[in-house]
Amino acid sequence: MDPLHPTRVLVTGGAGFLGSHLCERLVREGNDVICVDNFYTGSKSNIEPLLTASNFEFIRHDITFPLYLEIDQIYNLACPASPPRYQHDPIQTTKTSVHGAINMLGLAKRVNACILQASTSEVYGDPTIHPQTEDYWGNVNPIGLRSCYDEGKRCAETLFFDYHRQVDLSIKVARIFNTYGPRMDSDDGRVVSNFIVQALRGETITIYGNGSQTRSFCFVDDLVDGLIRLMNSPKEITGPINLGNPGEFTMLALAEVILELTQSRSTIEHRPLPSDDPTRRRPDISMAGKHLDWEPHVQLRQGLERTIAYFEKVLTKETR
Ligand code: NAD
Ligand code: UDP
Repeated sequence: MDPLHPTRVLVTGGAGFLGSHLCERLVREGNDVICVDNFYTGSKSNIEPLLTASNFEFIRHDITFPLYLEIDQIYNLACPASPPRYQHDPIQTTKTSVHGAINMLGLAKRVNACILQASTSEVYGDPTIHPQTEDYWGNVNPIGLRSCYDEGKRCAETLFFDYHRQVDLSIKVARIFNTYGPRMDSDDGRVVSNFIVQALRGETITIYGNGSQTRSFCFVDDLVDGLIRLMNSPKEITGPINLGNPGEFTMLALAEVILELTQSRSTIEHRPLPSDDPTRRRPDISMAGKHLDWEPHVQLRQGLERTIAYFEKVLTKETR
């Protein structure tokens, strides 16, 4: 990077879990970073250490409204990712994905910036092929409780490719599979944070359904590395590209590893399975390997140990 002309990077949703890690790495690498967030699920504490950096700025803003900035790259991460949170206000979730994408694509077009969309494995819905490859069109319920997120993200992908075809905008679409790590919100309801917090507090571990559904969990540092590689890849690499860790685990197996690593005596309780909960999920990451020379390096146990250490600190602070 030219130190006299650092890349000006906008990160929407930059005060959230993934966004704050991304901002941290971009700031460390000398970019000029503007973080935009409305704190719907993110928090000031996630970005607090960055506020003193001269190459970091924060703007409180809702991306469903237009934004005018001069930038070179946009990472569009704004959108709640946890099912209870995105289902809390489903209309706003769709607006964030669709109106937010239109606003950010319009901004990218105006200043000729390259724009990356944080899409999701949810575009595959409850997949009928396994593992999921990027050419699979998915199996998504358009009118269910998860649809605001799944269909919102699918429509955002449509908009990205239409801007690319119609006005030759430089786009990158990452389909992110379940990612975890420090700074997940302790009560946003996602499985890794739920199980760790429950285990550390000695509360029952809540497994939805019989626990045989699977997910593939990627550690946040690996994921951030994949996003940055994708953003800086040649223009013809548009994606969609799967980013995730292909290690596949049942929720029962996940609970058992977490119980072992936390040495918790918590017991397991089964609760009803939420509607349209995908049965199996595992990314085929050969495209990311071929085009980005990317693969995840942090194994589940190692990543969980680092995440557990983070939550131990958070819970200790809460009880003081
Ligand atoms: P998160 O909820 O921690 O972060 C989302 C951030 O976006 C929050 O800071 C929130 O306040 C902000 N936001 C929401 N609506 C906004 C709006 N209208 N305007 C401005 N800011 C807004 O979630 P995350 O896990 O960090 O996910 C980040 C992105 O990655 C999301 O787009 C999500 O869909 C995608 N993704 C995440 C995962 C995962 O496992 N973490 C998997 C697939 C896709
Ligand atoms: N899950 C669970 N117990 C919890 C939270 C989630 O068994 O306390 C299950 C959930 O039903 C799903 C999986 O864990 O099958 C992953 O859920 P999460 O909300 O983390 O992400 P997503 O369903 O979007 O992949």
